[in-house]
Amino acid sequence: MKTTARSEAVSNIANRCATENTVNFSDESPETIFGANTFSLTTMEKVLSPETFSSIKKTISEGVKLDESIADEVAEAMKNWAMAKGATHFTHVFYPLTGFTAEKHDSFYDPSPDGTAAISNFKGKTLIQGEPDASSFPNGGIRATHTARGYTAWDVTSPAYIVENPNGTTLNIPTSFVSWTGEALDKKTPVLKSMQALDKQARRILELFGHDKIANITASAGPEQEYFLIDKGLAYGRPDLLAAGRTVFGAAPPKGQEFDDHYFGVIPDRIMACMYDVDRELFKLGIPSKTRHNEVAPGQYEIAPVFESANVGSDHQQLIMTTLKKVADKHGLMCLMHEKPFAGLNGSGKHVNWSMGNSTQKNLMDPGDTPHENAQFLVFAGAVIRAVSIYAPLLRAVVASAGNDHRLGANEAPPAIISIFLGEQLSDVFDQIKGGGATNSKQRGVLNIGVDTLPDLPKDAGDRNRTSPFAFTGNRFEFRAVGSNQSISGPLVAMNTIVAESLDFIASQLEGADDLNAAIQKVLQEIMVKHGDIIFNGDGYSTEWHEEAAKRGLPNLKTTADSLPVLTSKEVVELFEKYDVLSQQELHSRQEVYSEQYCAHVNVEANLVTEMAKTMIYPAATRYLNELVSTAARMKQIGMAADLTTASALAGLVSDLEDTIVVLEKAHAAAGEDPQDWVKNVLPAMLKVRSVVDKLETVVADDLWPLPTYQELLFLR
Ligand code: ADP
Ligand code: MG
Repeated sequence: MKTTARSEAVSNIANRCATENTVNFSDESPETIFGANTFSLTTMEKVLSPETFSSIKKTISEGVKLDESIADEVAEAMKNWAMAKGATHFTHVFYPLTGFTAEKHDSFYDPSPDGTAAISNFKGKTLIQGEPDASSFPNGGIRATHTARGYTAWDVTSPAYIVENPNGTTLNIPTSFVSWTGEALDKKTPVLKSMQALDKQARRILELFGHDKIANITASAGPEQEYFLIDKGLAYGRPDLLAAGRTVFGAAPPKGQEFDDHYFGVIPDRIMACMYDVDRELFKLGIPSKTRHNEVAPGQYEIAPVFESANVGSDHQQLIMTTLKKVADKHGLMCLMHEKPFAGLNGSGKHVNWSMGNSTQKNLMDPGDTPHENAQFLVFAGAVIRAVSIYAPLLRAVVASAGNDHRLGANEAPPAIISIFLGEQLSDVFDQIKGGGATNSKQRGVLNIGVDTLPDLPKDAGDRNRTSPFAFTGNRFEFRAVGSNQSISGPLVAMNTIVAESLDFIASQLEGADDLNAAIQKVLQEIMVKHGDIIFNGDGYSTEWHEEAAKRGLPNLKTTADSLPVLTSKEVVELFEKYDVLSQQELHSRQEVYSEQYCAHVNVEANLVTEMAKTMIYPAATRYLNELVSTAARMKQIGMAADLTTASALAGLVSDLEDTIVVLEKAHAAAGEDPQDWVKNVLPAMLKVRSVVDKLETVVADDLWPLPTYQELLFLR
């Protein structure tokens, strides 16, 4: 076999030595390192005066406005803490509409007045406000490039933290990012605003139930992140993985996921070493990483932290993604967070577990053992049902992306049709309400396994449903349509705001009612009559459901191109403006940015398909054709009969390759700024090239094939 980048990568894996021990939890227990790199409340309590600490704590836990007069003291303490940990620089971290994390670093040091010494300097003003040049961040027409001013504002509710590098450390301060005219240019600002809206409306409901001590109500997020880890050497042999995060070509491997042998399988050593390292880094950042396991596809895994407030949870989710990529790289692996890196195998999602609650009334999504008697819970659950029913198109729009389009509705992820799974017990209670009133709750049973030495297990009140995009899972809702590569902020903003709107609606019906219980029954019954069709407990993957959903009139927005216009629809603009979460202009800007991003993504992929087909696949195919034809010619020369079946088939495929490339190039050149152009013309043309390339892969001599194969990418580690 001649040496190619591909064969070299394979041999490197074969000869790989185990990575050195870098993590040792007996020397460095999670308890001692957890949060060591965060300027958390515990740290602040130690380094701030009691008055300042109590003021900042009020802002964080009670949502009281930040008292700016304490900023200087906090800045000084934060700087000293960070410098003691080796920090030389700080950065206001923000989350632009690209979905990534942005940072611009400044040193703590200024020259002394006479210019002879460096003096560290970090004032309250610098902590509170930054001014990065905003012109190169997507703003969707909010400002012209020459009006570039943008501000970052310290988000005190999300702890500042230290990012380590072998050569130094930097203090990172989470911030909101807004334009000079005050419009949000980021993903964080609307999360904070939507949480405020939810708090305000949920409070009204709790007051109706007679609570007088009501702590700040927060939305919580527990995101489960799916991802692939593949060998970096192999990945570097694939321009598509490097530039697009997914394979645009690749024949199915001889063995795929058909044995169901990967899900929850024993985690391979090399992957485990990486996971320990990831957990250690996350612990240092105060991120409560909790669960890890193999996922369905070979090479696919999942990580989930314990849920946190939606705001901190989103910031931490961004950090989890960065940490996974960084640590994987250290272990010679590449972390793929694309929603569909490999055709024919499971893609990756991010299940966002969502609930709301506070320290006084606890989790408002907890039904207790007898939900039919728990009117307060029923009101909150009813609000979610109504919200999801009315704003289903919005929930589809906030999970729209070029990558996620490959996954939604592909028999592995929920369909693009938004529905709610409530489970047996709750569905039954809401059916009773619809019929006139709930009088009982189906009780959870006990499961006897039938082996005397094994204990009886208390059963959950309902089974799980993996096919539903929006499932009640016992004490929270799980939004399962979110893409693995997406920021969870958009989905959280949508959930918080639509539920706030429904709570507002219900509170307005209940406030002033003479008989609260009767009024609750009435409003919930109306909700069930009007919106009960959104509930579906069956198999969301089945064709019957697609037919049934169409009969029920549930929207089925199949692509990003179909869904993005929802962001500027009348109902959505009214919703977000009413609760002061996003203005019409901000929504327009978001829609424009996401459309641009969609086209840009498909554009890169189309470039890849054309370039790889022309410069890698075509040469390999024609070289092999030449070899076959030369062999046949020589066989004839010496009087042997030459069979040209393979050569003819190959020649046919080479010609198909040329033809399909021409068609793609034409469609590509004609595509404009409308995502529909790309969906309708470019993507199908890309798939035609792919189908020829994937056939070629099964014909062309393996030693001439330039791309690492699915078999290698998925099974070698
Ligand atoms: P699954 O069995 O669904 O894969 P995981 O254990 O992987 O569940 O993840 C469940 C996620 O839900 C975790 O992040 C967990 O902290 C989160 N979660 C649990 N309770 C709540 C709640 N009340 N609100 C929001 N998230 C929650
Ligand atoms: Mg999970």
